[in-house]
Amino acid sequence: MEIVRPSTLDEVLSARVEMPGAELLAGGTDLMVEINFGHACPEHVIALRRVDDLKDEGDGRIGAGVTWARLESSDHRALAQLARTVGSPQIRAAGTIGGNIGTSSPAGDGLPWLAAVDAEIEVASQARGVRRVPWNGFFTGVKRNTLEPDEVVVAVVLPDEVPANQEFAKIGRRSAMVISTVSACVVRYDDGRVHVALGSVAPTPLRATRAEELIAAERDPSKATLAEFSRLVAEEVRPITDLRSTEAYRRHASGILSRRLLERCLARC
Ligand SMILES: Cc1cc2nc3c(=O)[nH]c(=O)nc-3n(C[C@H](O)[C@H](O)[C@H](O)COP(=O)(O)OP(=O)(O)OC[C@H]3O[C@@H](n4cnc5c(N)ncnc54)[C@H](O)[C@@H]3O)c2cc1C
Repeated sequence: MEIVRPSTLDEVLSARVEMPGAELLAGGTDLMVEINFGHACPEHVIALRRVDDLKDEGDGRIGAGVTWARLESSDHRALAQLARTVGSPQIRAAGTIGGNIGTSSPAGDGLPWLAAVDAEIEVASQARGVRRVPWNGFFTGVKRNTLEPDEVVVAVVLPDEVPANQEFAKIGRRSAMVISTVSACVVRYDDGRVHVALGSVAPTPLRATRAEELIAAERDPSKATLAEFSRLVAEEVRPITDLRSTEAYRRHASGILSRRLLERCLARC
């Protein structure tokens, strides 16, 4: 295995062209697991650790190389909440938001937040320069996305308005070091709009848009409305039964979790 260690984004993009099929390596907390289990055996690896261009955070951008350890103190409340749930301190010190996006696992804990705040993924290539892809145009299936072989994820780009009122939580089979059975993120805008995004309940992160529409019309939702909100979320998710949980449990938990997060947001209004 040949490993190259570029130190600028331009060098990364050149390496992408010179070594087609090379794997990008950020923190390695997903890729090295694949390699250690023999599921991946790349001939060439492009290590991103030295690329400072990918590590900037601020002004509505989060560089792909920003680690979960750094995001634990993000000003975005739900992003900080979810960062604190990723793996262990060792995993958070190495693992990056760009690697989470690159893996595109349905259980990636960063993805519901990207969906909830309507983030774009900025990608770059030597041939076509920079393009921005809305989150729902990027993730296409289980561990599938629209990144081209010569491209690199450069950053997460946030819209002008990201509400401060936001909550994330996840459910797993134990309370630490756990892959999400269901994860959810709720953000509430000052004008009453609510975005509800869920993870681990479909091939890609998804938004429960019917539940969002219902609740946007309600300043002070009644118990019956909250129950209907919960029911709509449970109806909108598309979970499967697998080794971590059943379809029925994931559906039920999606509704309950989203309602709890919404209630926390409403309590701050
Ligand atoms: C013990 C353990 C616990 C974990 N717990 C969690 C958890 O609780 N929640 C969670 O969401 N995840 C968890 N993970 C998975 C992993 O830590 C995260 O997905 C992490 O964000 C991956 O980031 P990384 O920098 O290590 O990615 P890497 O392993 O370096 O890369 C992952 C993939 O993304 C690609 N990639 C990396 N950077 C880029 C880039 N800039 N552009 C394009 N592609 C890129 C790589 O080529 C590779 O295919 C866990 C993993 C382990 C081993």
